[in-house]
Amino acid sequence: MKRGVLIVLSGPSGVGKGTVRKALFEESDIDFQYSISMTTRQPRTGEVNGEDYFFVTREEFEAEIADGGMLEYAEYVGNYYGTPKSFIEKTLAAGRDVLLEIDVQGALQVKEKMPEGAYIFLTPPDLGALKERLIGRGTEAMEVIDRRVSAATAEIRMMANYDYAVVNDEVPLAVDRIKDIIKVERLRVNRV
Ligand code: 5GP
Repeated sequence: MKRGVLIVLSGPSGVGKGTVRKALFEESDIDFQYSISMTTRQPRTGEVNGEDYFFVTREEFEAEIADGGMLEYAEYVGNYYGTPKSFIEKTLAAGRDVLLEIDVQGALQVKEKMPEGAYIFLTPPDLGALKERLIGRGTEAMEVIDRRVSAATAEIRMMANYDYAVVNDEVPLAVDRIKDIIKVERLRVNRV
């Protein structure tokens, strides 16, 4: 039976990964599964447990790590974020494609374990645009924004470890580019 394709959408925080991922899943011809991450961050207004994230305590997250249940995890600006392993394994084995939307540290960990995946780096047109987007989102204090921008500067240097780079200048264009990449990857992995 053919195996599903693992698609990892990554890039610096504030680049618009979440927005692009949501727009991608709104397309009618998308038939892959989204891997819901686990986090210790507080839910933002409108976020739903079990849809946007599995929101857990630090103790629960650390118990999951100790049980070997995480494919990868990272500590980012004071909170844990991670990908539960069993969903990915089951879904790929059933021949369904899975998309992960995770930060750079996490993507590099997954690449070590699953190099056959498609690793897509979403990049901002420039760092000024990134800072403006974080400010415009209005969900974080200035100090947190500055920490996220400095993390992004370091993360952009990791782009060379990815298979594809997609500039997020306009969301619909980025979505189209990602859909093209997924088509190519399906051909490459399953030769169909
Ligand atoms: P936010 O707090 O804005 O939702 O997410 C912060 C960062 O964590 C973003 O870059 C997001 O892509 C990343 N992230 C979300 N889920 C995961 C995950 O499961 N693993 C890792 N390593 N990063 C994640």
